[in-house]
Amino acid sequence: MELLFERSRSGRSLINIPAAAVGDYQLPEQFARRSPLDLPAVAEVDISRHYTELSHHVHGVNCGFYPLGSCTMKYNPKLSEEVAVLPEFTQIHPLQPAHTVKGCLEVLGLAQQYLCEITGMDAMSFQPAAGAHGEFTGLLLIKAYHHSRGEGAQRTKVIVPDSAHGTNPASATMNGYTTVNVPSNADGGVDLDALRAAVGPDTAALMLTNPNTLGIFDKNILEITKIVHQAGGLVYYDGANLNAVMGMVRPGDMGFDVVHLNIHKTFGTPHGGGGPGSGPCGCKAFLAPFLPKDQIQRTADGYCLSQPGQSVGRVRSYYGNFLVVVKALTYLLLLGADGIREAAQGSVLNANYMKTRLADVYQAPYPGFCMHEFVLSLEQLHHDTGVSALDVAKALMDNGIHPPTMYFPQIVHEALMIEPTETESKETLDRAIQVFLDIYHTAVTDAESLHQAPLHTTVRRLDETRAARNPILVYAPKKD
Ligand SMILES: *Cc1c(COP(=O)(O)O)cnc(C)c1O
Repeated sequence: MELLFERSRSGRSLINIPAAAVGDYQLPEQFARRSPLDLPAVAEVDISRHYTELSHHVHGVNCGFYPLGSCTMKYNPKLSEEVAVLPEFTQIHPLQPAHTVKGCLEVLGLAQQYLCEITGMDAMSFQPAAGAHGEFTGLLLIKAYHHSRGEGAQRTKVIVPDSAHGTNPASATMNGYTTVNVPSNADGGVDLDALRAAVGPDTAALMLTNPNTLGIFDKNILEITKIVHQAGGLVYYDGANLNAVMGMVRPGDMGFDVVHLNIHKTFGTPHGGGGPGSGPCGCKAFLAPFLPKDQIQRTADGYCLSQPGQSVGRVRSYYGNFLVVVKALTYLLLLGADGIREAAQGSVLNANYMKTRLADVYQAPYPGFCMHEFVLSLEQLHHDTGVSALDVAKALMDNGIHPPTMYFPQIVHEALMIEPTETESKETLDRAIQVFLDIYHTAVTDAESLHQAPLHTTVRRLDETRAARNPILVYAPKKD
């Protein structure tokens, strides 16, 4: 499709405003631009059609099923959006005196209280803007803690299971730690013997996602956190999969010391497209003195800002993405304690329904019950027919379904990682299951046609190598 710049015709404009009754104001020479401003000249109707057409070229939760594993792409109530645009929340400035924004402080205070209750933590910072940022902040706390005990120089290693999300080792490296990988056992959990062999006086922390990216809840979790604590290390909870367990079990009770949450996955904020997120970092009381500056504290007459004594400093400006926290609090109040628990149960039920129906045909490398997501391996299908996980993903797009997460976790070959979420109806799941089964049938009978998919999308197969090596990130106007 044409870009706005290409649609531009000189002289066209958005709206015809009557000529001003006052004369033009001339900017002082030093502020005036040297060359004309190169903006597209487009009529309002054309600009409206342009953006509407663009919106038809993407797939979002509002278009159809979006089972992107590990991302919790669920439908989020529109009410949260309405609350977040109330002028009382948008028409404020972060430098306003605290006593003029008491309601906003209460939002942060209440969200902190509820999310601490759900996670079993004692304090929380809303500064981190995303999950990875929360991981980085959590490891800063852990580092500050070890330093405060004189063990900072000695504890240089962070242990990460081989099923971990890539941000875990990245956050550890960003904090100057060396990562140590521990393998998974046959059940998809942490191999306890390998963990015992890996921990020692150089262990700073273990980072763990539970349920993990295979959709498996590690039944040995109490033993795992004990092994790390006995070695003097701390245990970090990657909360990206909290959707499966919120209101059921709490990371704090599993023995975790620090958590991050992905509000944009679990608590009512749409994500994808790089929109604002929030990755609050929560911790047990003994780590609270190290939290980023500007904590929200409850007082006799409301909430105030406080500065933790041994703070690691700021990790972002002001209070993080405040309006995302407004949406999270709306979601929490809307669902209540029962609703939060039911959402978790629904996500597990939906995943098991799909897994059970698909595992008869596709192969599930970890059989049995799963939590909120499950992984299929198309290794055998690929071997027998030449149809890969990528081919199946492309064929799903032709059927109005966003592909699942592919080729992750890396311990499963030809992986498709499916997370239906609790917000999908049985009819939607049944339709998606039928599409998966039909594609399998096509793979066996007409493999070649799947190598051609997708046939009905705006763009077909992209040259991914070229896109990665020679990305075009800036619009270059055509010279005429
Ligand atoms: C999404 C995700 C992250 C990173 O979170 P962002 O908010 O995308 O930075 C970390 N761990 C797991 C398991 C995830 O799914």
